[in-house]
Amino acid sequence: MFRDLADNKLPMGRLLGRLLHLIVLLALVGTPDKAVVAQQDRWAEPRAAMVRTIQAYTKLQPEVAGPGGISRAVLDVMGKVPRHRFVPERHKSLAYADRPLPIGDGQTISQPFIVALMTHLLKARPDSTVLEIGTGSGYQAAVLSPLVKSVCTIEIIPRLGEIAARRLKDLNYDNVQTKIGDGYFGWPECGPFDAIIVTAAAGHVPPPLVKQLKPGGRMVIPVGSVFGPQFLTLVEKTTDNRIKTRQFLPVRFVPLTRGQE
Ligand code: SAH
Repeated sequence: MFRDLADNKLPMGRLLGRLLHLIVLLALVGTPDKAVVAQQDRWAEPRAAMVRTIQAYTKLQPEVAGPGGISRAVLDVMGKVPRHRFVPERHKSLAYADRPLPIGDGQTISQPFIVALMTHLLKARPDSTVLEIGTGSGYQAAVLSPLVKSVCTIEIIPRLGEIAARRLKDLNYDNVQTKIGDGYFGWPECGPFDAIIVTAAAGHVPPPLVKQLKPGGRMVIPVGSVFGPQFLTLVEKTTDNRIKTRQFLPVRFVPLTRGQE
């Protein structure tokens, strides 16, 4: 009897030993940070809802994005980029609402539907080099980043440009180059470009940008006055260097301001 009990106790002891071993191992390896996981999950549903809103909005106006709507690749990226990391703390709760938000210095991060539409109209490919004028928060550059080979983005307000550059680096958007300057003149050293996106309204299409567009390239730019009507415009450079323009829809953007080069 005594012996039986002793025999029974032996495996139990081993089991406890193994359990202890496991606990020590787990402590050493570490478990996922629950706070971080919960934080990420918190934004997953609002972000998915934002993508659904963009899709629904596109279906209402099929003439804008074409019969297939906004491309799947663009929607997928917008379903991943953490927009809440690009808006000021006090507007975080609205990060995934389909509306523009203030980002300081009188500037705004564009409405998600407009970001999706402009990205879609660029028809950029994985081997494309893209120029953005108006880095702002860096969100548009982050959306472009996984879709293309490289993004060069220019911001005229140093404070905004510096914050965006740091943010893009922290979030590992490694194929994005940033610069402070007047985007009217483009960035010849980074180009020529397959696609150019201007996220501030210009009175006319800047000739230096047309020049830096490759044959077959596309530029999407809001054209119009600050107070008057502005139209989202597609500028295409044909393979034989002719320029074609097409207006899409009325929009409201902050103005493309002019600095000194
Ligand atoms: N694309 C941005 C939003 C742009 S708001 C985002 O995703 O957050 C427009 C930005 O264009 C503003 O930050 C404004 O300062 C900048 N801007 C205006 N004129 C400019 C110019 N000439 N060159 C470069 N940036 C300009």
